Amino acid sequence: MTHPRTPDAHTSHARTADSQEFAGRAALVTGGASGIGLAVARRLAYAGAAVTELTERGAKAVAVRMDVTDDSSVRQGVEATVAAFGGLHLAVNNAGVAGARVPIAETPAEEWRRVVSTNLDGVFHSLRHELPAILASGGGAVVNMSSILGTNGSAGSAAYVAAKHGVVGLTKTAALEYASQGVRINAVGPGYIDTPLLSGIGQEAYDALVALHPAGRLGRAEEVAELVAFLLSERASFVHGSYHLVDGAYAAR
Ligand code: NDP
Repeated sequence: MTHPRTPDAHTSHARTADSQEFAGRAALVTGGASGIGLAVARRLAYAGAAVTELTERGAKAVAVRMDVTDDSSVRQGVEATVAAFGGLHLAVNNAGVAGARVPIAETPAEEWRRVVSTNLDGVFHSLRHELPAILASGGGAVVNMSSILGTNGSAGSAAYVAAKHGVVGLTKTAALEYASQGVRINAVGPGYIDTPLLSGIGQEAYDALVALHPAGRLGRAEEVAELVAFLLSERASFVHGSYHLVDGAYAAR
């Protein structure tokens, strides 16, 4: 079997960020009303995409209410996006919840289910309905939101850690299934990011989180959005099935 040659510098053009690089692209961002999802939705809209779950003036947007733990709710959300924008090219499966911090033996089964059903089942439901819509629209790209806890453990967060590791495995498998069909699927692993997800933690706990990051601070949602935008763009045209950290060196130790 012969394969087409990889284009070289004479036949391909390096792509650089373009302020309208998502023009004409329809995007769905789950959990797009808050934190990282909102920053991603704004970043994509800024570069021309029509985005669900963004209700900013000026952006082409439709806000779709969906519960990612409920497969039929996700199906309806994807259908509403396709109906509003005429297709789907980009998806960011970002909706998630932080779990209670308790050791495994003290974790109620319902708490395990709540965290895994949102953070892992939610990504599965989303992929299940997004991928056929993306294929029908001629291809595109997906980013799944994992975490540094998609590769590191964290005592007291078993359900969250297991779900985020699961997102990495699901991402790799989805990429293997769809790489040859014009859909790139990658995962992002943020360190701790200053968003409403961390609201309610006291100053002492906040300072302890900062100390985990050699960069000396927590990340900003916009810093995660920049990586997501790169992965969704044509600038990342050979990036498939991988897990990318944006973590202030948290996982480098
Ligand atoms: P936020 O709490 O600010 O945002 C989470 C979003 O997910 C909200 O819009 C929330 O909607 C939505 N959501 C929660 N449950 C569901 C559900 N069942 N169906 C649909 N939407 C839902 O958190 P972040 O922006 O910080 O988190 C975004 C993602 O980033 C999550 O997957 C999180 O695990 C991940 N992450 C966050 C880190 C951090 O330190 N902040 C670090 C690493 C990863 P609503 O408010 O209406 O419930």
